[in-house]
Amino acid sequence: MQNLLHNLNPEQLAAVTLPAQSALILAGAGSGKTRVLTTRIAWLIQTGQVSPGGILAVTFTNKAAKEMQARLSAMLPINTRGMWIGTFHGLCNRLLRAHYRDAALPQTFQILDSQDQLSAIKRLLKQNNIDDEKYPPRNLMYFINSAKEQGLRPHEVDAYDDFNRKFVQLYEMYEQQCQREGVVDFAELLLRTYELLSRNQPLREHYQRRFSHILVDEFQDTNDLQYKWLKLMAGQHGAVFAVGDDDQSIYAFRGANVGNMMAFERDYNVQNLIKLEQNYRSHGHILDSANCLIAHNSKRLGKNLRTDAGHGEPLRVYEASSDLQEAQWIIEETKSLIGEGMSRSEIAILYRSNAQSRVIEHALFTAGIPYRVYGGQRFFERAEIKHAIAYLQLMDNPHNDSAFLRVVNFPTRGIGARSLEQLQDAARQYGISLYAAVAYVAGKAGTSLGGFVKLIESARFETQNLPLQEMVKVVLERSGLMMHYQSDKDGADRIENLEQLVSAAMLFVSEEGFGIDTPALAGPKAQAVAGAGITTADGVEIVDADAPLHTVMSPLSAFLSHASLEAGDNQAQVGQDALQLMTVHSAKGLEFDAVFITGLEEGLFPHENSQQEQGGLEEERRLMYVAITRAKKRLYLSFSQTRMLHGQTRYNMKSRFLDELPDECLKWLSPQVQHRWFGHTAKAAWDDAPQAGANAIAQQFSGKDIGWKAGETVFHQKFGEGVIVNIEGGGGNARAHINFGRHGMKLLDLGVAKLQKV
Ligand code: ATP
Ligand code: MG
Repeated sequence: MQNLLHNLNPEQLAAVTLPAQSALILAGAGSGKTRVLTTRIAWLIQTGQVSPGGILAVTFTNKAAKEMQARLSAMLPINTRGMWIGTFHGLCNRLLRAHYRDAALPQTFQILDSQDQLSAIKRLLKQNNIDDEKYPPRNLMYFINSAKEQGLRPHEVDAYDDFNRKFVQLYEMYEQQCQREGVVDFAELLLRTYELLSRNQPLREHYQRRFSHILVDEFQDTNDLQYKWLKLMAGQHGAVFAVGDDDQSIYAFRGANVGNMMAFERDYNVQNLIKLEQNYRSHGHILDSANCLIAHNSKRLGKNLRTDAGHGEPLRVYEASSDLQEAQWIIEETKSLIGEGMSRSEIAILYRSNAQSRVIEHALFTAGIPYRVYGGQRFFERAEIKHAIAYLQLMDNPHNDSAFLRVVNFPTRGIGARSLEQLQDAARQYGISLYAAVAYVAGKAGTSLGGFVKLIESARFETQNLPLQEMVKVVLERSGLMMHYQSDKDGADRIENLEQLVSAAMLFVSEEGFGIDTPALAGPKAQAVAGAGITTADGVEIVDADAPLHTVMSPLSAFLSHASLEAGDNQAQVGQDALQLMTVHSAKGLEFDAVFITGLEEGLFPHENSQQEQGGLEEERRLMYVAITRAKKRLYLSFSQTRMLHGQTRYNMKSRFLDELPDECLKWLSPQVQHRWFGHTAKAAWDDAPQAGANAIAQQFSGKDIGWKAGETVFHQKFGEGVIVNIEGGGGNARAHINFGRHGMKLLDLGVAKLQKV
């Protein structure tokens, strides 16, 4: 038997081997929370305190769930595929599939991702002639989701004015639309499961008995409904083992409530509160910087981190004149890391907003360095993939109106707006789906719509005995999608993606244990499980939502859920040794040998929106804390004086977070021209500047008639007084690096900047 417990420090050991009571492990980044949680699962099973089926483990991402399963497999000789380890959404999906009837859902209900949800809302407004300027679809979506996240149905929402009452009414209409179409959004997955279990006593008691141990990672980011859900699952006797870090709470904007940690301590009368303070991840300078930064926050539960690893390298800070230069610097530094023998997948490039990745991606592409982007536009969110998925959705559940509308006339088959209006009228009149309403449309419109229905029916018939990957292939051809993109001169990438969908389907069925030959439409084997017979005292038979997916879903349904829930990975690049690009949010829980945090500028990180919200800045600081603590050995920080974002050039000041890091941990790197003589702390360095150097630059441009020369003092509306350090270009394109002291060095366009001579 493998000794699971060696290599744990005394606090970790205590946490792993706690008795079966509720416990809270509150600890900083890299202190081994996730490791403790995983080891505890293995220990509970190995010591026979619980069978694998008695464990319910909640992780924050699918990637984390997979990683946890892999680690468990390495520790224990068991098949972990059947274990209940997943995200809240994934676990709820599994429960609802097994108990779809009790949850009042069709067996083939489908999941709307946020993009689908928004288009469903837009459609609702349009169909009911509601002014979408007065009631913006995005706001309505936010309203609905936050109501659901608080566990509120329309009649429970407190409507305090007319506007609010309208939103509540629209929320109700949206619910009816979803129900009619057999679709659920992300928040609904949770709320539906919560309601199912709270209303259905035998079912609730069954799961409460079954899951004697519930373990939750990243507990600080649970929202109110998720916390209620956990309490319901645990019941009176279940032991909840929660690990979290209040300093890493970064989802308040999505309703996460760090107060749940305190509530948990109180509600569960937690006797076992363990703090872990030894950090195993990062070198000293990195950790000191993280500690020093987060000390600027006021609302903290209080803890610190120490490490036995040496100081390591200082953090390297780089000021670029433009985002292009920043990207170039990243490339040079990564090349030298790779040259030192670091593998590419151990290097992460982090940014605050997705929009920042484009410039970096371009530079990496040009330099021929393989990279992989997490988040951003995900594989399953690409238009061509969405189209193919919509055909598959209709074959699985023809009443999904969103899917219907997406492809009824794509590729074009002569079904115009007029025909669709007629169809929508009929659907409204009879209260049925568009698909069903086709039978009620007469004339030419009826004929062309009928053709579409026939296409779906015959594709379904033709593929009924085929495995999923073959079904996908047939659908791509029969739908006309392949042909459509083949005749499009820019369609090559899209075709490649569609082919990738076939591979994704194949990989999926084998990974999920369906068997590569199982027909895609093969019904779920729920009967067999029912036969296994769990009968409660009052004679209610329960079909247990038991582990493997194939017991509760057909391969097609399962694959479609996967497309909505697990869309995070860019399938095309899996497995390659590539640089890792992602937002700071998606880096949570991960670690890398080297990390670049880019775009450290006021307005970008901290984000400008954070200024308006209460506690916004503290949340941004926690986000920065998360970013810093991802690094094991090397940390690089960069900012740029100018940046093109959303089509506009921004002139930026460096992020206040840089000033909150300890000087002794930082090494400032100087880009060529502007800092050769002038340090980043401006005035003092300027005073020391060798005059000869300044003159040399001045002469370089003295011949150009642009009205300015290096060495001159100028005044700028926003930045105040500064000194021109050098001038690039001439005539209408002239730009100058100007040292504005406190505000740092800026690159300004002389034709635009409205400078005054001092
Ligand atoms: P985060 O807050 O970022 O999620 P965490 O607290 O979950 O971090 P882990 O990811 O579990 O931390 O651990 C951080 C690193 O330290 C991992 O590489 C882990 O393997 C290692 N580690 C944890 N405990 C020990 C230990 N006792 N001895 C050696 N390495 C350890
Ligand atoms: Mg962790």
